[in-house]
Amino acid sequence: MATCAALSAGGAEVLAWDDSPESRARAEAADIVLHDLTREDWAFIAVLIVSPGIPHLYPHPNPIIAQAMMAGVPVDNDIGLFFASFATEETAEFDQPPKVVAVTGSNGKSTTTALIHHILQVAGRPVQMAGNIGTGVLSIDPPMDGEVVVLELSSYQTDLARALTPDVAVFTNLTPDHLDRHGGMGGYFAAKRRLFAEGGPDRAVIGVDEPEGVYLASQLGQAPEDARVIRISSGQKLAGPGWNIFARKGFLAEFRRGKQVAAIDLRTMPGLPGAHNHQNACAAYAVARSLGLAPKLIETALATFAGLPHRSQLVGERDGVRFVNDSKATNVDSAAKALQAFTKIRWIAGGLGKEGGISALQPHLGAVAKAYLIGHSAREFALQLGDTPHAICETMAQAVALAAAEAEAGDVVLLAPAAASFDQYPDFEKRGEDFVAQVGAVLAGA
Ligand code: ADP
Repeated sequence: MATCAALSAGGAEVLAWDDSPESRARAEAADIVLHDLTREDWAFIAVLIVSPGIPHLYPHPNPIIAQAMMAGVPVDNDIGLFFASFATEETAEFDQPPKVVAVTGSNGKSTTTALIHHILQVAGRPVQMAGNIGTGVLSIDPPMDGEVVVLELSSYQTDLARALTPDVAVFTNLTPDHLDRHGGMGGYFAAKRRLFAEGGPDRAVIGVDEPEGVYLASQLGQAPEDARVIRISSGQKLAGPGWNIFARKGFLAEFRRGKQVAAIDLRTMPGLPGAHNHQNACAAYAVARSLGLAPKLIETALATFAGLPHRSQLVGERDGVRFVNDSKATNVDSAAKALQAFTKIRWIAGGLGKEGGISALQPHLGAVAKAYLIGHSAREFALQLGDTPHAICETMAQAVALAAAEAEAGDVVLLAPAAASFDQYPDFEKRGEDFVAQVGAVLAGA
């Protein structure tokens, strides 16, 4: 709908289609002209703009997109339109032309995007945030002088966009995800790599903890001293000749040409617990350095980042007990990251379990003082916990109340369900909000 509005505002004649009758009804109610594209004569169409949610090639070619492609009609999406229009605006009169930062990768995109946004806000730079994280790219305000637009882009958005020309691009990490849509790992990596193509960003921030990142960084920065690439890592010491930023044992370090430029203690930063968040901190720090900010200023901003709702979010503290909402940990992988980020955990888990339950979390149970199990999978999870102390609580209210009553100073009451929310909630956000409300009730009763 935002794309229709933007195109109409630009003077285009827009014909819209959606396979779902409910969506068509909503579009009609917003005065959007519907047109059955399954029967289109493509000779009169200048461009087909596709919603990122529509698979175009895998697992099955979409018939409308295939017809347009056969007829030689360009196929694009809102991200492509955004970059094309941004390039035009750049020629306008600006003292300091606006810049676009784009963040992609398998995990940590939203957190990194929000962190970059927060750092720039603290630095007093005009900044807007859009893309996968919420606001559609075509719904942002016209960029001002010196403004930075930070975009979170998923592989669904990068795979079809015709123009992808950020000034700074970030590749956080790569793990198998959405493989159906991209026809395997190669296609998935290729979709993300499009952000770094020829004529791409002036500066690339690349996570090198997977072979794909190492390969991408080496392709972009052929000369070792090339400042076009900043390599980042969570765990590895990177002290090569180029520009490197890494986190180890809770410290972030910046090295240039083998010399240390700055070091920051991340261990006490409330919004950035765990090695995975230290990777996000490295990425955001690298972007901020690329935009000319000083390490001290970035450090101050990192310390005041509150975290994104539902992702390792500190929501309360009482008598040395912290309450953390990681409702977004809907699968075993993300729950493992959360369990690695803390010690002395009172773990609230369960919901609609995925195949295999929590058996894969066995190596991370050492940090769990006790589990409080909720939802449909409570009994299955209880069996898989073995010797780890646990209680079946059924509801969030019971789980939070019992965990809070039993917690001692230094403990963390952590919601990291390792399960979907749909047995008890419409989505993971509502589940996280319930946790926050129950924590509020417990703290109010204190
Ligand atoms: P995305 O936008 O890529 O889905 P988010 O920032 O929303 O990433 O984080 C989603 C979940 O993934 C979080 O709950 C956390 O458990 C985990 N996570 C966050 N950052 C990282 C990272 N850098 N590496 C691995 N996992 C991460």
